[in-house]
Amino acid sequence: MKIKIGIIGGGFSGAMLARHLLNSKQNLEIYIFNNDVKFGRGIAYQAQIDSLLLNVPAGKMSAYSNQPDHFVDWLNKKNKKSKDEFDQKFVARNEYGCYLSEIWEETKQLAAISDHRITPIIGKVLQIIPKDGVLELKTNELKLSLDFCVLACGNSLPTHPKTIAEKDFNSIRYSGNPWRIKVEEIQSDKEVLLLGAGLTMVDAIQVLRANGFIGKINCISPHGFKILPHEKPTEELQSELKFINTPIRLFEILKLFHQEMRLHPTKSADLVSLLRAKSGAIWSNFTHEERDFFMRHLRHKWGVARHRIPPESYAILQDEIKGRSLQISAGKITAMNFQESSVLVEYEERRSKKKRSLLVQHVINCTGPASDITVPNDGILNSLYQNGIIQADPLYLGIKTDIKNYQIYSEENYPIYALGNLLKGELWETTAINELRIQCEELAQVLINTFNKQ
Ligand SMILES: Cc1cc2nc3c(=O)[nH]c(=O)nc-3n(C[C@H](O)[C@H](O)[C@H](O)COP(=O)(O)OP(=O)(O)OC[C@H]3O[C@@H](n4cnc5c(N)ncnc54)[C@H](O)[C@@H]3O)c2cc1C
Repeated sequence: MKIKIGIIGGGFSGAMLARHLLNSKQNLEIYIFNNDVKFGRGIAYQAQIDSLLLNVPAGKMSAYSNQPDHFVDWLNKKNKKSKDEFDQKFVARNEYGCYLSEIWEETKQLAAISDHRITPIIGKVLQIIPKDGVLELKTNELKLSLDFCVLACGNSLPTHPKTIAEKDFNSIRYSGNPWRIKVEEIQSDKEVLLLGAGLTMVDAIQVLRANGFIGKINCISPHGFKILPHEKPTEELQSELKFINTPIRLFEILKLFHQEMRLHPTKSADLVSLLRAKSGAIWSNFTHEERDFFMRHLRHKWGVARHRIPPESYAILQDEIKGRSLQISAGKITAMNFQESSVLVEYEERRSKKKRSLLVQHVINCTGPASDITVPNDGILNSLYQNGIIQADPLYLGIKTDIKNYQIYSEENYPIYALGNLLKGELWETTAINELRIQCEELAQVLINTFNKQ
């Protein structure tokens, strides 16, 4: 008898999980659902323009944890170059997308010559209901009964700001999806406003300019502009942080971090990287109070040290700022009034508390992927939450999950598993390829062991 598994999400996580599940000795029927046609790539690696770069050097982007040079070797072969050319390079995200598409094609071929079956389904999963020992899954077009489900839904669209009325969510003056900006609706010489000053803003500026936009770009975020470029790796940093053991309390880490910063004042990014390598173990041992304290007081500082961009993208931003074609303000938006040909934006400056206003022709929501599954919407996560099948973690960063085996927390022990961004509440750092590739491998092994016990 075949075991039926549904994977919801066909980005990197879903596609790589399918790949590793092929190691199972049991016969599997894997149904993998994706909202768009390009399996394996997700939103990150099918960028709106080809010039957007990865935020991580190629040497750290292999899809396999046990073959760290897999991506670099792929690049070498394709470009007939030596390894050193690419290891530290930030290559185009769409090029990485081609690499993932190739792995996906190989996965389908491997399945075709094995006892397993992979069925890719383009469509949105709307509902999963546990019933009579199986999971009943529904899309608009079909219904399926499954034995196991994995939520690999990845990056959700940003939450609409409270200052935008529901009637304006689909306005031609508003791009709620920053990864598909409505460039065709934007006149090339008027002003635009970007909400948020993180990595998504950096992409949005490049997409606008590549599409011929020559007007002024305004950007408002609570903290203003704090993004830093990646630095060239120096000799390996000798630091106490490398040797910390878990569990460790937040105040001990902070003490150590401040000591280390005194010794290496220009190395905040390297010190954060050392901590990041152990962040899952550190975070999962934190108490709720420690996590809450981090979220309220340290999250932003962590993000600045950790969300680095390629020097090339940083130079583009600096030129925009110097040329005054980009203005980034720290402040809080208090109202947005959408009119036929413009949007009137009111905000309060962070430092001076002065009230200001702006008239722009288009607003782009660059506030980053949403994580609170309790916010009502038409997505599968909110549907599962409304039906009492999944729970939010206490800080509303993702889904409450047992990270030892990736199974969602439920008294009924539902055979539903989660990975990627959805584990943010449990692991904090759970989004980069070098984190996700390990999760895909581990979860596949957990599932294979479970199948063997059946
Ligand atoms: C713009 C951007 C750039 C990034 N750049 C880097 C980088 O350079 N390096 C790095 O390491 N990480 C980067 N990341 C992190 C990135 O999130 C991960 O690397 C990885 O792509 C996440 O893969 P995923 O499969 O978990 O999620 P996603 O890529 O978001 O894929 C999830 C898929 O599930 C589908 N889906 C969701 N819900 C449903 C449903 N109900 N039914 C059917 N399908 C559904 C979606 O359509 C999507 O295709 C970037 C992220 C973003 C957003």
